Amino acid sequence: MKSGTADVDVVVVGAGFGGLAMLYRLRESGYSIQGVEVGDGVGGTWFWNRYPGARVDVQSVEYSLSLSREVQDEWTWTELMAPQEELERYVNFVADRLDLRRNIKFNTQVTAMTWDEASATWLVETAQGDQWRARFVVTAVGCLSAPLEPAIEGLHSFAGVSLYTNRFPKEGFDFTGKRTAIIGTGSSGVQATPVVARQAEHLYVFQRSAAYTMPAGNRPWRPGEFEALRADYDAIRAVQFASPLGAARFGAVAIGDFRTPPPKILETPREERFARLERDGWLAATAFAWADAAIDIEANRAAQELYAEMIRREVKDPETAAALVPHYPMGCKRPIIDIGYFETFNRDNVTLVDLRKGAIRRVTPEGIETEQGFFPLDVIVYATGFDAMTGALNRIDIRGRDGALMRETWLAEGPRTYLGLMVAGFPNLFTITGPGSPSVLTNMVSSIEQHSQWIVDCLDHLREARRRTIEAEPQAQEDWVAHVATLAEGGVRVHESCTSWYLGANVPGKVRVYMPYAGGLNVYRDRCDEIAKAGYAGFTLA
Ligand code: NAP
Repeated sequence: MKSGTADVDVVVVGAGFGGLAMLYRLRESGYSIQGVEVGDGVGGTWFWNRYPGARVDVQSVEYSLSLSREVQDEWTWTELMAPQEELERYVNFVADRLDLRRNIKFNTQVTAMTWDEASATWLVETAQGDQWRARFVVTAVGCLSAPLEPAIEGLHSFAGVSLYTNRFPKEGFDFTGKRTAIIGTGSSGVQATPVVARQAEHLYVFQRSAAYTMPAGNRPWRPGEFEALRADYDAIRAVQFASPLGAARFGAVAIGDFRTPPPKILETPREERFARLERDGWLAATAFAWADAAIDIEANRAAQELYAEMIRREVKDPETAAALVPHYPMGCKRPIIDIGYFETFNRDNVTLVDLRKGAIRRVTPEGIETEQGFFPLDVIVYATGFDAMTGALNRIDIRGRDGALMRETWLAEGPRTYLGLMVAGFPNLFTITGPGSPSVLTNMVSSIEQHSQWIVDCLDHLREARRRTIEAEPQAQEDWVAHVATLAEGGVRVHESCTSWYLGANVPGKVRVYMPYAGGLNVYRDRCDEIAKAGYAGFTLA
């Protein structure tokens, strides 16, 4: 398959779950491969986000690769939802067991990819001076991998220790005796808070928007439980891949439990709503629990009332409890599951700093100055998020046909893809879990497996059909972008008061576009398969 000028059939950018799955499948199908990874190890998300408390929110038996029987049969998960250390060990096991390391160049940052029309190859260049000519490129750069530095004045002037959850030191950090701040209460801040609170002399949690979070229900396996699950993997995978979320469970809860029965909250008398709260606890206080809560803003507010009640039951200080109640619609941002988050605010050494009562003015060498006073600190932990879904791709100079720079369009109009897999004008470039695919709305590993399989099948088809290139047709792309937008319409996810990273609303100046495909992974997979079956409808093969 190698053309005269190509060094390699496929360059794969990134060595997290996506990169490893892709490299393995490509090598199995006989392609020459080159992996490139900026870190010095495999793992992607689980390599960088090693902050205290980091843990997956999908059950590990589902948040794991099915592509190798050996990997599946030989790995033992120790608890329901694995912590970062275990996930990093797992990804390393995968790389070793499938012998993928020899195909990856580590400590290497891809800075540019340029399409050459004459040779129909991509020139891939790195900050370290490497150059590869490849017939195809697959980006597996992650949806939440481009760290966002908050625009806080004086951030770099702090004389103490500044830490970032998404680039946490490998050797860890001992917070003992330290006056510590965590800025940010998304998934990362919420997970880190209880663990840091147990160590720090005092922990100040700087909250701009309160979190919708509920107990994860994580636990170690009961005797024999994991062995039984492992023996039943075929059935587990079948259910997992047939589900819209690419997982049969969210946290400890079977997705079905969220759905049965789904009455409308606005048609449920108030006392019955609270009776359900008594029966189902936090589950009754989610947008999943009521048929109308994710669509109707009034229904959403009614569900929020239940959520506020649950917080009041957990948090002793009424003022803190009130401040922990979110002011934006439930379900607009990614739901969070935690281990002991609300109880943490009952500790004497923890203070919630509600930034709605006075914003951060600046960071000084000694601490954080706010409109509500000064906080002297030894450590600041930034849990302030990512330029999600497009950030990692936009940071690479990707030039397609006629020298067109991909980010130029994406920054101006939002991301434009066909199936979240390819971009018109950028032949032979595939984007694993790209914008416009279900990705972040699903179990990422399920989406990664689906994409990597579809891509290798596509390359096999090109090989058999003796075609050099495949490219998304502009009209198919426009139709897909419109379809993705339609699927998101009307619900709380795109409500004007929603400022989620799904919409790019956490990045100043980013175009407000709902980026993931919201139709469910099962429906999406069928669509992708139909398109392939129809001879790659909407793609030009040449
Ligand atoms: P995030 O959800 O974007 O949260 C960032 C937090 O920082 C928000 O509370 C944000 O407030 C706050 N913030 C940002 N800039 C600020 C500023 N200048 N001043 C004060 N506060 C500021 O980021 P994340 O927590 O890293 O999570 C991102 C995503 O990664 C999650 O949604 C999830 O998909 C994934 N993740 C998953 C897990 C898991 O599954 N276990 C764990 C971690 C992350 P505003 O909301 O007001 O902007």
